[in-house]
Amino acid sequence: MEYEVEVMNADYRIRATAADGLLRTVAVNTTVTARQAQQVHDAWPLAAAAMGRLLSVAAILAGDVKAAGARLTVEVDGQGPLGRVVAEVLEGDKLRARVQHPQVELPLRDNGKFDVGQAIGIEGTFRVIRQEGAGRWYQSQVPLRTGEIGDDFLYYLTQSEQIPSAVSVGVLVGTDGLVTASAAVLVQALPGCPESLVEEVAARFQALEQISRRVADGDSLETLIRLVVPEPIHWAEAVPIAWACWCSEASVLEALKALPATDLEELIADGGAEVTCHYCRRRYPFSASELAALKEDRA
Ligand SMILES: [Zn+2]
Repeated sequence: MEYEVEVMNADYRIRATAADGLLRTVAVNTTVTARQAQQVHDAWPLAAAAMGRLLSVAAILAGDVKAAGARLTVEVDGQGPLGRVVAEVLEGDKLRARVQHPQVELPLRDNGKFDVGQAIGIEGTFRVIRQEGAGRWYQSQVPLRTGEIGDDFLYYLTQSEQIPSAVSVGVLVGTDGLVTASAAVLVQALPGCPESLVEEVAARFQALEQISRRVADGDSLETLIRLVVPEPIHWAEAVPIAWACWCSEASVLEALKALPATDLEELIADGGAEVTCHYCRRRYPFSASELAALKEDRA
């Protein structure tokens, strides 16, 4: 089926405004990216769902982080069995993710959904870090509410931006255990937006149910947006997004350089080291002499 192929190969983000600019909305399809994250980390469905949800949240937040080298990181660590889950976006369109413990399984919740909340836990924070080019960075965080990521994202938005928001974040995993759909949609009410419109949007979200199921069934992001905000809608251009890792030998060397001297000496004594990128699992081998040169270099 041609259509399915098209859906599966096209992750993107689209923005739009409605109600004469009083409502703004962003939606992302991260299906292919989430599936790639699952494959790279050999992740079981629960971890894949958590990474997919976080990738969608990061993709939404990164819409205005497009400058060269600009990076946005979303991180959750609630002391649950998955450990730390991180999603990062470079220059607005390159996405990568990692999870500390990718092979974790928990019983499904009563509604048949993955218990991402239990898997992430709530003893920690939902943190967003924005790095804009040359070293300037900003960080904001809120305590985790449920660990479900969608709820935590919503709490983050209402706390940090103080804008009434509605959000739906979902990942669907097929019977084969692989991510079938991953998407999110956000609507925010701008100053001057009447309460009645905020309520209408909330009611539309209530009726939306599982967006990942809709995406799996072939609904586009445009269709999802039409379901949550009233016409007329003004569309901005859709932006393709995709899995990518920007690690390099140079960036790994930088990380090694930052190690305490005793650690470096230990690696040299061990005859070298192999560093694995936490995001893409690519391996970077360094010989003892390379490490010794690095140590010299640093001194
Ligand atoms: Zn990498």
